[in-house]
Amino acid sequence: MDRRIFEEEHEIFRDAARSFLINEIQPHVDRWNEQEIVDREAFEKAGEQGFLCMWADEKYGGAGVEDFRYEQILIEENARYGDVGFFMFLHSRLVGPYIGLLGTEEQKARWLPKCVSGENILAIAMTEASAGSDVSGIRSRAEDKGDHFLLNGSKTFISNGILADLVIVAARTDPDNRHGLSLLVVERGMEGFERGRNLKKMGMHSQDTAEMFFNNVKVPKENLLGERDRGFYHLMHFLAEERLLSAVGSLANAEAAFAVTLEYTSEREAFGRKIAEFQANRFKFADMRTEMDVAQAFIDACVMEHNAGRLTAEDAAKAKLFATELEDRVTDHCVQLHGGNGYMDEYPVSRMYTAARVSRIYAGSSEIMREIIARSIGLDPRKKQKGTRKDAA
Ligand SMILES: Cc1cc2nc3c(=O)[nH]c(=O)nc-3n(C[C@H](O)[C@H](O)[C@H](O)COP(=O)(O)OP(=O)(O)OC[C@H]3O[C@@H](n4cnc5c(N)ncnc54)[C@H](O)[C@@H]3O)c2cc1C
Repeated sequence: MDRRIFEEEHEIFRDAARSFLINEIQPHVDRWNEQEIVDREAFEKAGEQGFLCMWADEKYGGAGVEDFRYEQILIEENARYGDVGFFMFLHSRLVGPYIGLLGTEEQKARWLPKCVSGENILAIAMTEASAGSDVSGIRSRAEDKGDHFLLNGSKTFISNGILADLVIVAARTDPDNRHGLSLLVVERGMEGFERGRNLKKMGMHSQDTAEMFFNNVKVPKENLLGERDRGFYHLMHFLAEERLLSAVGSLANAEAAFAVTLEYTSEREAFGRKIAEFQANRFKFADMRTEMDVAQAFIDACVMEHNAGRLTAEDAAKAKLFATELEDRVTDHCVQLHGGNGYMDEYPVSRMYTAARVSRIYAGSSEIMREIIARSIGLDPRKKQKGTRKDAA
């Protein structure tokens, strides 16, 4: 089905993004997967091309372009021609907007220019060993010491965790309120801020995912982002966009797997016929194409709703739930259609399959998405139980 949401300038941008990814990213992908981290220079090169934090005001070096379709194009092209472990989108559109929307003029002037250029790489640290889906269970603590907060605690599974220069850390500032969190910007080099291992993962090996430790880190008050004690609500505000990003990425990964598999099975033969020509396989391709087109129509509609400021948390949750589960089915079929080669790392489909597995877990798991959707249709047991938690998950 033809997609109708793009204008001519988006198509021009898509061509530019594709040639950047083919020339500057693709040649390094195997090495990055081996070394388990992308080169810092990849962010700087993306910054030079104007691909980072495009929404930032021109006075900070950005393009002042809020239109989410540009990020959607970058994600789609990166899945096919770049590397899914190169988390440009996390830097630009998942973490950056916290500074853009919550930051004071002084903070924006201090941080944004280097975020746009790719010299400052961004990460967000919510998850702890004992608090993932339930953000309100965060134990990291920031005590008010007058001109600074004293930060103690640890985080885990943090994407861009090794490369990050600025980390938005969610920490408890009101111990008596389970939602009493604040967001603090911890900078590379602050005393007491240490990173743990670059964690070994099932897939997406080029993406650095790390633990972080904060031992009596003095975070100046000037690094408080947004309102004190309102961090929980700030986090919730950005989750719809995060889930839309995730949905776009999952469908893009599924599309990329479909494309390489169609190519492969149209060449390879068994029993004197192309693999793609067997009826069982033609029907499998037909099913995948249908599901992906249906998903695309919904996601594109969500993108336009988001551009109009109307995307609801439940529609974003539906997009993430459907796209991530579809990504799982499609990449699984695609490995199967490759036969033994599909299990070999040198075939891109193998990496697409292992990368897909995390999509149903992070940015809110499939179960949490179902919770949000169920509540939106009135199935909310909390409302029947007086005195129970107000904002779970
Ligand atoms: C590769 C990777 C990158 C990540 N990047 C980041 C990052 O950059 N920043 C960050 O802060 N975090 C990050 N995370 C953490 C991620 O967001 C969490 O792993 C995720 O939210 C799930 O939390 P958990 O691992 O603690 O699982 P748990 O919360 O322990 O959940 C375990 C299982 O229980 C289910 N469950 C939980 N609650 C419910 C419920 N109410 N009803 C039904 N089932 C439920 C879950 O769906 C899951 O299946 C990353 C994780 C990974 C693996």
